[in-house]
Amino acid sequence: MNYNIDQKGYYGDFGGAYIPEMLYPNIFELKQKYLSIINDISFKKEFNQLLEEYVGRPTPLYFAKRLSKKYNTKIYLKREDLCHTGAHKINNTVGQILLAKHLKKKRIIAETGAGQHGVATATVCALMGIKCVVYMGDLDIKRQAPNVARMKMLGAEVKSVQSGSKTLKDATNEAIRDWINNPLNTHYIIGSVVGPHPYPDMVARFQSVISKEIEEQLLEKENRSKPDHIIACVGGGSNAAGAYYHFLNNKTVNLIAVEAAGKGIDSGESAATSALGKDGIIHGSKTLLMQTPDGQITEPYSISAGLDYPGVGPLHSHLFRTGRAEFISITDENAMQAGLELSQLEGIIPAIETSHAFAVFKNRKFETNNIVVVNLSGRGDKDLDTFINFFKLQ
Ligand SMILES: *Cc1c(COP(=O)(O)O)cnc(C)c1O
Repeated sequence: MNYNIDQKGYYGDFGGAYIPEMLYPNIFELKQKYLSIINDISFKKEFNQLLEEYVGRPTPLYFAKRLSKKYNTKIYLKREDLCHTGAHKINNTVGQILLAKHLKKKRIIAETGAGQHGVATATVCALMGIKCVVYMGDLDIKRQAPNVARMKMLGAEVKSVQSGSKTLKDATNEAIRDWINNPLNTHYIIGSVVGPHPYPDMVARFQSVISKEIEEQLLEKENRSKPDHIIACVGGGSNAAGAYYHFLNNKTVNLIAVEAAGKGIDSGESAATSALGKDGIIHGSKTLLMQTPDGQITEPYSISAGLDYPGVGPLHSHLFRTGRAEFISITDENAMQAGLELSQLEGIIPAIETSHAFAVFKNRKFETNNIVVVNLSGRGDKDLDTFINFFKLQ
């Protein structure tokens, strides 16, 4: 079994490029050029230099002593929360802005849920002096106010989306609509391993720096480059794809993907795509998708804006279908508790997205001498209001 993309842009049964005709030229151009651009020596040099000096990589691999003691296993945290702008998203936006420059694009559009991808995109647009428009659902604008302010401060235009559940899926629809209307001068920076081929593969490659560093850092600390388990939360799946990338074809590494169960898988208010999804097409890609019996997309729900999406990237559908990754879904309640626990055991306030990954320790036992790496995808500053209200800390 192969877990990398094939010639046609599929991971097993999933992927491809299901797009309106108006977008053929854009997607064709990207598909033809992305590998030669990103594998070019001068591109790699500029990308790596920005990751080091601007993003702050390598991020630490931190041994979480108190958490390890509590759950009686060896837990390491990959500190993506320490990236510039506070999450892993910027690894991808740095790569894509360099790509957009090579393609001579003058305008950038993006969608955002939690606002982390919007902030990461607005940041690299400021860095390169390129105009930036970010689409964001009206509900997300309200629950992620600090990130909306950051985008505005960085000079981006934030467009509020009023359709559907007013969340990430709807923002993505609007961004695609914009791209159809501005196909020549605009590059669409997609924020996860979703969308038509070549986006899932391209974004996974930009994020793969995470697993490359984990290998090097573990070798130094534990004298072995492979952990026993890697845990990551999955919205679209980019932080997980980055954390898994160099281990995908090594079966000794158990991959654990954590989805948002919302108020419970059977509650009707959930975003647990692997548990509830069927094969379908969303945002240009064939993948698992939450849908009604007649194929209409179901409105997802999660307390976490970054996981509130009715699909997953095609790589993750393939990992699920083939059994290569273990999928676990975590409720709002359990995620919030895990976020509070990490804050008070390790002095690290995680994003609510990331908190879902930490809730796994209450659900599942690990061997005492196992090495478990949790990808700490982002920090919780943007979520403080939600945490405070949830726990009535004021
Ligand atoms: C956006 C986001 C996620 C979810 O997106 P993926 O593409 O699944 O990684 C998870 N954690 C944080 C902190 C985020 O900002």
